[in-house]
Order: sequence, then C-alpha cells, then structure tokens
Amino acid sequence: MSQWSKDRRGRGLTISFVPTMGFLHEGHLSLMREAKRRCDLTVVSIFVNPTQFGPQEDFDAYPRDLNRDLKMAESAGADLVFTPERNDLYPEGFDTFLVQEKLPGHLCGLSRPGHFRGVLTIVAKLFHIVNPHAAVFGEKDYQQLAVIRRMAKDLHFDITIVGYPIVREPDGLAMSSRNVRLSAGQRTAAACLYQSLVNARQMVADGETDPEKILSAAAALINAQPEAEIDYIKICDPGTLDDVSSIGCPVVMAVAVKIGRTRLIDNMILSP
Ligand code: AMP
Repeated sequence: MSQWSKDRRGRGLTISFVPTMGFLHEGHLSLMREAKRRCDLTVVSIFVNPTQFGPQEDFDAYPRDLNRDLKMAESAGADLVFTPERNDLYPEGFDTFLVQEKLPGHLCGLSRPGHFRGVLTIVAKLFHIVNPHAAVFGEKDYQQLAVIRRMAKDLHFDITIVGYPIVREPDGLAMSSRNVRLSAGQRTAAACLYQSLVNARQMVADGETDPEKILSAAAALINAQPEAEIDYIKICDPGTLDDVSSIGCPVVMAVAVKIGRTRLIDNMILSP
C-alpha cells in the first residue's frame, strides 16, 4: 500500500482516501465519489477495527461481505481497496495508542469508553500507510469527524479532512452497515431517530430556544417505540460538543438509540 502511494505521488498524482469498516452502502459510495472528485486517485480501506469495539460490543457480529464490497467500491470509482488483516495492523506486541483529552469526553465517548482511542489509533495508522492528500469522512459520525479533524491538526498531518453530509433512506433513517441487523418491525421503528431530529429542527425554526423542551419532545417521540432504548439525546456546541443551555446560534443535536440489540446514531444541525 505504501509503495503504491509513494509511486503515484512520485508521478505527481493526488490521492484521496475513504476509510471504512466495509459492508458498504450508498453513504460510503457517496464519500468515494466525493473523494474521486477531489483527487486523481481514490483509495478505500476496509478493516473492521477491533480496538474501537468494547468487550460487550458487536465486533464479531459486525456484518462483512468483502466480495460485494469490492464490486461496489469499484463501481464508485475506487482505484485501490486496501484490506489489511488484523495481524498486519496489530501484530504481536503492539502497544501504542493515541488518545485525545476533551472531545471524546462527550456523546459516544461516554457510552463507549475507549472507542475514540481505537478510532484515533487506526486512522493515524492508516493515514501513515496510505499517505493521502485528502481523506473523506461522513457527518453521520459527527463526533468522529470532530475528533479526527482535531488529531490531524494537532499532529500536523498534511491531509485535507473533508466532511460529507449524511445519506439517508427514503424514510430518513441514516444509512448504516448495522441497519441490516434490524428486523422488519425494528427497521420501521428506527425512523424515530430522524423524526425526533426533524421535529427538533422545526421547533428551533419556530423560535424555541430551550434545549430541555426540545430534548423532552425528542425523548417522547423515541420512547413511543417499544423496542427503542435511548442511550443519549444531546444538544451541543458544534465545535466543543459541550451541552448548550440556550439556543442562540446553530447547535448540533445528536442521538444514540438502541433498537433491540442494534445501536444507531444520527445528528442534525439546528439553526434558529
Ligand atoms: P463505517 O464503515 O461505518 O466506519 O463508516 C465509514 C465512513 O462512512 C465514515 O466516515 C462514516 O461517517 C461514513 N458513513 C457511514 N454512514 C454514512 C451515511 N449514512 N452517510 C454519510 N456517511 C456515512
């Protein structure tokens, strides 16, 4: 992978990079098209990164289908798909991790201790190996994008970090590899995440400035689904992710909900 990249760079070509955990969907493909638009060549990585999963999480159950993924990546314009094995990236004796102090102390970082340590470590490693000019990440993982932007800046990675808007199903559910794990009934119920965000956006557009009122309305919408269990619903400062006490400028509302055994996340910017 490194040699390929060095060779292409030597020929004056630019490289964009889309890291994924595979089981690709239209959200991933949109990132790839955006990546392709920005650079001469696009690299996609597929690696289900064990270090970002907690011991009770779904690493083993995470959906995988490499042959299908390779065809889809090619159709979206990927020039190379990098598919390392666990031992390539975490060989015997591996002992160095990357941590960030503040941003991971919010949202998913609280419900998933160690998650962003794993994300930062794998993304930094992939950045070194792939050595791209630009890397594209989805806004679906809002906190992840913020954490990676911070890391790239703090550690002087000479890589343009690009955010891409959330790609949704017709009923608004954010596309996710995990959606295939939902039963038909759960799949219908899962639209409540998006509905709670759209309702919040409308409340703010109509002049509501109290986050508590918006959060209770969202909780009521989600709790109306018997299989939904709220992990968190937060209204935060889009830069620091701190909770806001009043909405006077654009904020980000982020939700994490378990539907049965599947944990789903979504977010939306609310602008007064
Ligand atoms: P994952 O394979 O879930 O680790 O995601 C790989 C990349 O795709 C991350 O940058 C995600 O934010 C992005 N992504 C996942 N789902 C979506 C979506 N529905 N819309 C846009 N980007 C997405």
